Amino acid sequence: MINGSTTICGLLGYPVAHSFSPQMHNTAFETLVMNWVYLPLAVAPQDLPAAVSAITAFNMAGVNVTVPHKEAVLPLLDELTTAAKTIGAVNVIVNQAGKLTGHNTDGAGFIKALHREVAFNAVGKGVVILGAGGAAKAVAVQLALSGMKSLTIINRTIAKAEDIANRVKGVGGVAQALTWDESVLKQVITEADLVVQATNIGMHPDTDQCLPVNTSHFRQGQVVCDLVYNPVNTVFLQRAAKAGAQTVNGLGMLLYQGVLAFELWTGRSAPVKVMQQVLNRAMEGKKC
Ligand code: NAP
Repeated sequence: MINGSTTICGLLGYPVAHSFSPQMHNTAFETLVMNWVYLPLAVAPQDLPAAVSAITAFNMAGVNVTVPHKEAVLPLLDELTTAAKTIGAVNVIVNQAGKLTGHNTDGAGFIKALHREVAFNAVGKGVVILGAGGAAKAVAVQLALSGMKSLTIINRTIAKAEDIANRVKGVGGVAQALTWDESVLKQVITEADLVVQATNIGMHPDTDQCLPVNTSHFRQGQVVCDLVYNPVNTVFLQRAAKAGAQTVNGLGMLLYQGVLAFELWTGRSAPVKVMQQVLNRAMEGKKC
């Protein structure tokens, strides 16, 4: 029941109707019997400064930030975490007595999902990331902050891979940028401890599409993750599993970025199982 003491948080994006976050967080609040509500807030780009001012004006606990505001919101905040600053994008804002801090829980959510699902620890590991968009950037920087040994980032547009390699080097990591080249692809992928598919390829509705990486590129003993979560078992993951690699889909990253946001706003442990059930149900509803 919403009343005069309800604490408000929400999602700033444009559009926001597709998001699973309202269901995930409102179910979590209900489960823990918290007088909180999470609202989807469609904010056009020109209204972003007013929307950020409203976080303090309405005494909200904080918000999630999604496309197209993740980068534009940075100069409107009082403080940024190292991850958010290095990635150059914010997906969570926390309001502490009027001070707005920008966090990025996408990369941290990815690390947590890998740890929970396959006990992966980034320290000392060699990583290949295929793709260099926003998701790849968050994952690469957080892996570097978590002690990864080295990163090879491969992208169609080399300048974007170079930009991410430079961000990783900026926090003390070792990184190289490559473009798609069949002659080196097999070697770098086979040698990696962790391979991350971070392009849009294979996403619904183009579920039969896959990067030019086949079963022989993968091996036993490596972890292969596809950030795509619809479908949950992409052709890319099917090929990796055939070679004996441990596979992880993109749902865990989606779940744990939300779990970490919940914990930042509330200071309480999130009801992870319940939030996972909400996501699973939402994904079932999206299946065609
Ligand atoms: P983005 O910023 O638009 O980047 C897209 C990436 O895919 C770029 O590197 C782009 O290469 C590459 N790409 C697209 N089409 C390609 C093609 N035909 N051939 C080669 N490369 C191609 O997108 P994003 O936000 O990073 O998202 C990437 C994926 O991660 C999506 O599938 C998204 O659903 C997923 N994701 C998952 C989570 C999660 O929580 N699991 C969170 C965020 C995103 P160019 O740079 O050359 O254009």
